[in-house]
Amino acid sequence: MKYTLLSLFPEIIDAFFALSILAKAVQRGIVEYRSVNIRDFAVDKRRTCDDAPYGGGPGMLMMAEPLGRALESVGVRNKLEYSGEERSAGKNHRVIYLSPSGRPFTQELAHELAGEPELILLCGRYEGIDQRIIDAYIDDEISIGDYVLSSGETAALVVIDATYRLAEAVITPASLEEESFSGGLLEYPQYTRPEIYGMLKVPEVLLSGHHENIRLWRLRKRIEKTLALRPDLIRGGIETGLFDRKTRGLIEEIQGIAVRAGTQDS
Ligand code: SAM
Repeated sequence: MKYTLLSLFPEIIDAFFALSILAKAVQRGIVEYRSVNIRDFAVDKRRTCDDAPYGGGPGMLMMAEPLGRALESVGVRNKLEYSGEERSAGKNHRVIYLSPSGRPFTQELAHELAGEPELILLCGRYEGIDQRIIDAYIDDEISIGDYVLSSGETAALVVIDATYRLAEAVITPASLEEESFSGGLLEYPQYTRPEIYGMLKVPEVLLSGHHENIRLWRLRKRIEKTLALRPDLIRGGIETGLFDRKTRGLIEEIQGIAVRAGTQDS
C-alpha cells in the first residue's frame, strides 16, 4: 500500500512515518510513503499558496495553481481534460481531499481504502481550497468527524493510521476479527498481569483455560458494552441483518435483563 501526501507542512506526517510500527512497515516494504510540499509548486518568487476568497469573507484560501501543479507532479490527471479511461490509464490511486464537508470516515471506509494500491491525500489549511481543485482532481472528500480542525494533516494522520494497519501483513488478521466495530460490536474488556490490582480481580472465566466459555463471555461483554455505549451500532446491525442467530439471541436476552432491571428500579 502506498501513501502520497500533499501538504504545506509535510514534516508533520514525515515524522509519523519515521516512528512506531509504521516505520517498521515502511522498512519491510509493506507500506510506501512519499510527501510533497505544495509550496514547491507555487508560481511566484515569494512561493505564495494562499489568497483572499472572491466575493469576500474571512480568512484565506489555498490557491488552485500550486495545488493543481502539485497533484499533477504525482501523476493525478485533470478530470475535465481527460476521459475516465484516459485518466485512470496506468493509475492505481484514489485522490482524497480531507475536508469537514466530506463523507464520514468509519471503520468500514477504512477497510475500503486499505484495499486501494495508493491513496493520495490532500491536506487543506486556512479556510480550505479553491473549489476548482475539488472539481478537477478529487475522487473523494473525507471527513474524520463533525468538527473543524485547523488543518488537514491531523485528519490525514487519522486516515493513514486507520488504514495501513488493515493492509495485509501489517498485523495478523486474527487480531482484527474481534476488535471494535468488526461485526458491528465494540471490543470486549481485556486484562493482563497482575491477577489482582487493588480491589479489582481479573474475571474468573479468563483464568479457567476453557476456550468456549471464554469466547462466549467475550461475546456477551461485547454486546453489553455496545448496548451501553453505542446502541446505534446494535440498531444498525439488526436493521442490516449483520448479526448471526447466537448474537441476536444474546442481544435479546441482555436487553430483556436490562428492561426487567429498569422496571424493578422504578
Ligand atoms: N472553512 C472550512 C469549512 O468551514 O468547512 C474549514 C477549513 S479548516 C479550518 C482547514 C482544513 O482543515 C480543511 O481544508 C481540511 O483539509 C481540514 N479539516 C478541518 N476539519 C476537518 C475534518 N473534520 N475532517 C477532515 N479534514 C478537516
